[in-house]
Amino acid sequence: MTNALQQPMILIVDDVPVNVQILAEILSRIYRIKVASNGLDALKIAEREPPDLILLDVMMPGMDGFEVCRQLKGNAVTSKIPVIFVTARHAESDEEHGLNLGAVDYITKPFVIPIAKARIRNHIHIKQQADLLESLALIDALTHIPNRRRFDEVLASEWKRAVRDKTPLSLVMIDIDHFKHYNDKYGHGAGDICLQRVATEIFRSLVRPADLVARYGGDEFVVILPGTNQQGALLVAERLRDRIEKMVLPQTHPVSESVVTISLGVATQAKIPEFFLPKMLNNTAQNALDLAKEGGRNRVCSH
Ligand code: GH3
Ligand code: MG
Repeated sequence: MTNALQQPMILIVDDVPVNVQILAEILSRIYRIKVASNGLDALKIAEREPPDLILLDVMMPGMDGFEVCRQLKGNAVTSKIPVIFVTARHAESDEEHGLNLGAVDYITKPFVIPIAKARIRNHIHIKQQADLLESLALIDALTHIPNRRRFDEVLASEWKRAVRDKTPLSLVMIDIDHFKHYNDKYGHGAGDICLQRVATEIFRSLVRPADLVARYGGDEFVVILPGTNQQGALLVAERLRDRIEKMVLPQTHPVSESVVTISLGVATQAKIPEFFLPKMLNNTAQNALDLAKEGGRNRVCSH
């Protein structure tokens, strides 16, 4: 998904270099272009850096375009990318088959350049509208970071990726210490501002592109750290704890620090067994967070 200020990205998939060249020439002034010369590369690129549109040839050696489309639509990470078949196959049955596989359009070669361009522009426009609507529904209205729904979605897809790639996955559950007291002392409006500032600081402290922080609810946040083992996750959590403490947001709870602090629970799944569910990792992180609270707050615990 691109943000509104970025040029949309198009992935061109074709095994014949001259076809790619023609399309790339027409489109590269308006869009960012990526190229794949076979189905497997196309799937890899689409998953790693999802484009806004895929122009997909049908006849390719190895995996054909129909199969590529089927696999794109079967993967949560790539299923919403619009696919347009660009093919020399004119049969109506092919077009019907392609559209039934979930492609948004079917352009036959040789194509009329202005018409092909207009169709591509229209589909990119629809994709951007859909992204915007989705982002509005997936962002927490107070803190402007991803909401719980977004978290559930990302956790599900990262979970699948971790199982497939046999990579570790870590979660950090975070809760502000004595936040009821903060609201009581400074008022709910100031409490809201505090939540916004803590959320922004956590967001800024995460460095890897795949890391994600979401508001879990109330004064609770959750961080997903894909490809991160327990040692790495503990380091990230400790950095978050330190950064929030160093913000020096005043707090007056009698038994706590004089600044706003957070408690953090870390859970890591190294090799995810088949029977394991994302919910279990959630629960483990929540238990570790409980330990951090019981242990005196403003600390990181793992389970
Ligand atoms: P603990 O250290 O055990 O976490 O103590 P706590 O007081 O923070 O307890 P808890 O996390 O259970 O309390 C969450 C409080 O967060 C309850 C509520 O007053 C406050 N809160 C939840 N959502 C909002 C919000 O949107 N705005 C504001 N201002 N406060 C909120
Ligand atoms: Mg709290």
